[in-house]
Amino acid sequence: MAQTADPVTMEKITALCKRRARVWEASGHLESFTDPLVDCRHCGQRFRADHLQDLECPEKPSKHPGEGPNCDLTEARAFNLMFETTIGPVKEQGATIFLRPETAQGIFVDFPQVLQTSRKKPPFGIAQVGKAFRNEITPGNFIFRTREFEQMELEWFVPPGEAERWFEYWTEERLRWYVDLGIRSDHLQLRPHGPDELSHYSSQTSDVEYLFPIGWSELEGIANRGDYDLRRHAEFSGKKLEYFDSATGERYVPHVVEPSAGADRATLAFMVDAYDEEEVEGEPRTVLRLHPRLAPIKVAVLPLVRKDGLPEIAQRVYQDVRRRVQAEYDEGGSIGRRYRRQDEIGTPWGVTIDHQSTQDETVTLRDRDSLQQERVPIAELAGELERRLDADWTTPKSG
Ligand code: ATP
Repeated sequence: MAQTADPVTMEKITALCKRRARVWEASGHLESFTDPLVDCRHCGQRFRADHLQDLECPEKPSKHPGEGPNCDLTEARAFNLMFETTIGPVKEQGATIFLRPETAQGIFVDFPQVLQTSRKKPPFGIAQVGKAFRNEITPGNFIFRTREFEQMELEWFVPPGEAERWFEYWTEERLRWYVDLGIRSDHLQLRPHGPDELSHYSSQTSDVEYLFPIGWSELEGIANRGDYDLRRHAEFSGKKLEYFDSATGERYVPHVVEPSAGADRATLAFMVDAYDEEEVEGEPRTVLRLHPRLAPIKVAVLPLVRKDGLPEIAQRVYQDVRRRVQAEYDEGGSIGRRYRRQDEIGTPWGVTIDHQSTQDETVTLRDRDSLQQERVPIAELAGELERRLDADWTTPKSG
């Protein structure tokens, strides 16, 4: 089959893509979304110049790049992190496009449509969760830095005079979000950026940092972007991107405060912070002390043995509770092993159906952290689980 596309369609796609590529020009990413890169003339490896102290030269004995006897690093040069490709079946006929390195720009471009359809008045926000792609020079540390990742961004549009106040608000609010979801507050800190560190669009930025095993590292950035984005997109598209109040005649370009977080990085912090090992009755136990709201399974329903009518009652209990909370049924292996398995994936509660259950319609409810067991009537179980899920929670993990 001939490898050509319908010329009219291709023309339209090309025009659209050129407009899309202009988005990255307007946002400043084509020019400024770079990391400093150095090459080693000796080993041929590339390193991020501002992370040399965290990286290892591939040659033995292991040292930081530039510190080994043979290291021969080039001067740092700017390396653009955007992935570039062409659209359409024929490369030569296609237009250049970029995979988005952040979710924010789509929000700015769609600002007038959202304003018109939602009929909001600043302050208001547009949030998005989605994939972002960056050609990272040195990905690694498990899911801390990957080339495809999930971002959660909020663009908070405010009247120009209110940006600083909202910046303070969102900085505190975002720090609190991690604490409320169980992260130890002494493992979190806010780090304001110095003037030489600020991105091209930002007048104020603070990072929420977490004490990862690799040291204090960024979880999220909160930036005061001013009117940079709306102004630039308006300039490049020729369309007005402003708020107009027809009742008062008020007209202005809103300023933007942006909390920008990585879902993968937050997940890593939640897991690292929850991981615990302890000894229970002379046996080692690994337990993920996740906040119950974050635990993927809230309750495990476990018949003590696979006979005497216990699995039948357990199935009935499981079918009942799973309509209210995420539940798992498990009847395979010893009860001790089944508890341990659930402890390792962070399931906060275990329900065991034993012989007493056949007599009095009660079950034992075991708490992952305290290991305390209580007898609860089956009829009250789902309600009790919901009550516990709703309650305040702080990690029992210390240190
Ligand atoms: P870093 O300095 O770690 O490269 P950044 O300052 O470039 O991060 P931002 O552009 O502020 O990151 O992106 C917002 C958030 O997106 C980061 O705080 C982080 O949680 C997440 N993030 C950014 N790059 C990656 C990546 N390569 N892998 C996973 N998450 C990422």
